[in-house]
Amino acid sequence: MHVPAARIVFSADDRAEIASATTEILSTGALTLGAHTRDFEAAFAAAHEAPFAVAVSSGTAALEIILRSLDVRDTDVIVPTNTFAATAFAVLRAGANPVFADVSPDTFALSADTVAAALTPNTRAVVLVHIGGLVSPDVEDLARLCAERDILLVEDAAHAHGCQHNGTFAGSFGVAGSFSFYPTKLITSGEGGMIVTADPAIHEAALIYRDQGKAGFLGNTHIREGYAWRLSELHAVTGKVHLRHLDEFLATRTRIAARYDAAIDGLARPGAPAPASRLRLPPGDVNNYYKYIVMPRPGVDRARLKKELKERHGVSLSGEVYEVPLHQQPVFTDYAGGALPVAEDLCSRHVCLPLHSDMTDAEAEHVLTSFAAALASLDLDGAA
Ligand SMILES: *Cc1c(COP(=O)(O)O)cnc(C)c1O
Repeated sequence: MHVPAARIVFSADDRAEIASATTEILSTGALTLGAHTRDFEAAFAAAHEAPFAVAVSSGTAALEIILRSLDVRDTDVIVPTNTFAATAFAVLRAGANPVFADVSPDTFALSADTVAAALTPNTRAVVLVHIGGLVSPDVEDLARLCAERDILLVEDAAHAHGCQHNGTFAGSFGVAGSFSFYPTKLITSGEGGMIVTADPAIHEAALIYRDQGKAGFLGNTHIREGYAWRLSELHAVTGKVHLRHLDEFLATRTRIAARYDAAIDGLARPGAPAPASRLRLPPGDVNNYYKYIVMPRPGVDRARLKKELKERHGVSLSGEVYEVPLHQQPVFTDYAGGALPVAEDLCSRHVCLPLHSDMTDAEAEHVLTSFAAALASLDLDGAA
């Protein structure tokens, strides 16, 4: 059996619906900022209980637009170091300095403590990233810390479609949240992004920014330094059709994750260090398991583990979140502060088991038996 790192799921019905909508879009010539974009925005807002949603060309654009709307120019914006480079690029493009912070080992995310350690006198905003789809239970403490210091909390929810903590959806803990519809993400439109917010001023600003800063679609008065951040109708209809499957994808992913949880916990033997550990989700919370994160015990050679799984068992692990923290990336040399030891350790050791929105129980079983066998064989090699 072969289990790929990722699988993009569009049913035959979805493909037919998108093909027929494409024909309609091409024949009417309504190619951008039309009815499909409005439908996609309304459905996304409803699915996340958000008052406003604005569709844009990418998740990176969504985050940059939020930060521009907040005017963070010449301030410091705290981001976790274990995130995609786009999080910090958006901060830079909005005219601010990214400040890299460490994260909690229990959530892979920023916490009130790790943000407190990274604060500067010039900190204006914090970008919380829900790594792998887990909304950290520390989010409320972090929101309180930000409120006390008049710092804006923004969420990069690129991983977190449909995720919840304590009944609140990702994207609604801070002033605004950005989502991505890149092909690997839980819901895709090919390329695309979405801003969610409850703030009418951010909503208004986002509509202006995404279309070259124009005061209105038809006018030619430019009132903000915008950009070509529109989403085409072809992308919007793709995202709209895919989004309808969010609940079904969440149900499948939750079922497979429960199986993974039980098997990872079952690897432990009394009196011996656990071969691998996993993240824990508070009861009642929703994780979409964009990434199913596992920490093999210290000393396991990740490259060998991945090679063994692929070559002997046909199992490709999903990409890490992330392999190299941003403060160690060449492009951010000017912004790297000191060591961030927790993130450095997490980045160097964790693996992500493949988890697809249409995964079968047989595939999950194959991943788990292969993972246990590969870990055991590495242990034997290590002992020899
Ligand atoms: C994917 C991703 C983005 C960027 O999304 P794009 O749609 O590719 O621009 C931003 N932040 C994180 C954490 C991501 O994973």
